[in-house]
Formats: sequence, C-alpha cells, structure tokens
Amino acid sequence: MPVPPSVKFEVEIARGRYATIDDMDGIGRRSGLACPDCHGALWELDEGELVRYRCHVGHAYTAELMNVALDENLRRALGSALRALEERRALARKLQAQAEQGDQRHVAANWRRRAREFEQELEVIRSSIERIDRIAVRQETKDAAE
Ligand SMILES: [Zn+2]
Repeated sequence: MPVPPSVKFEVEIARGRYATIDDMDGIGRRSGLACPDCHGALWELDEGELVRYRCHVGHAYTAELMNVALDENLRRALGSALRALEERRALARKLQAQAEQGDQRHVAANWRRRAREFEQELEVIRSSIERIDRIAVRQETKDAAE
C-alpha cells in the first residue's frame, strides 16, 4: 500500500521540518478550528475514512480527540465565567447589605436585582457544564463499548 502524501509529509515534520502554511494547504483543508494546544489554525486531513486535524506546529488530533479537547476548553472557559460571576454576585450581595444598613433602600433594591441577574446567569452556566459532562460521559461509555 502506497504511503499517503500527508503521512510522508508528517514524518518529515516529525523529523524537525517545520510546516509552512502553504505546506499545510497542500495536504489538507483549513478547518476553521483552533489548535487546542497552541491556538494556531488547524487543517483537516482525510485519511481514507478517517479525518484528522493537525496544526502546522505538528499537534495532531483525531476527530474524537478534537471533540474532547474542545469540550475541555469549553469547560475551562465556563469554569472561569462561573468564578467571575460568583465573585460579582458576592460583591452585589455585600453592597446590597451595606446599602440596607445605610438605609439606602433604592440602592439596596438595585443591588438585589443585580445579584438575582448574576444568579440566573450562574444557573445557565451551571446547566451548560452539566450538559457537557453528560455528553462526555456518554462519549466515554460509547468509546469503552467499541
Ligand atoms: Zn498546535
């Protein structure tokens, strides 16, 4: 069986040859996705039935791995959004309490409303994280069954 040009080329990259964007365009299609490792552009390479992703630095992903990596990035991003919102909610609650003590009812109501908005946003993010976790568990179960 002849060696596909993309494999031959990848061996060269593995030997230390740095791929240019033209090289990558020659062996694959631009995927529009970012490499989970270096955030560079990723190219889609067809290998028979398999699709693989690879950046020009040489990070390579199967479609399944790509999915998991994207989920992990998403989970990390959602995690930091969650922390930021929790801090904002805590601050809003603190300012609400201060305003109540100072008898600034209008200001207190304002902070209470803001805190509730943050809580609703927190709920949305929490359920997104749960959904991703459920999908990840399904994927792992499916992988284990195969
Ligand atoms: Zn990369």
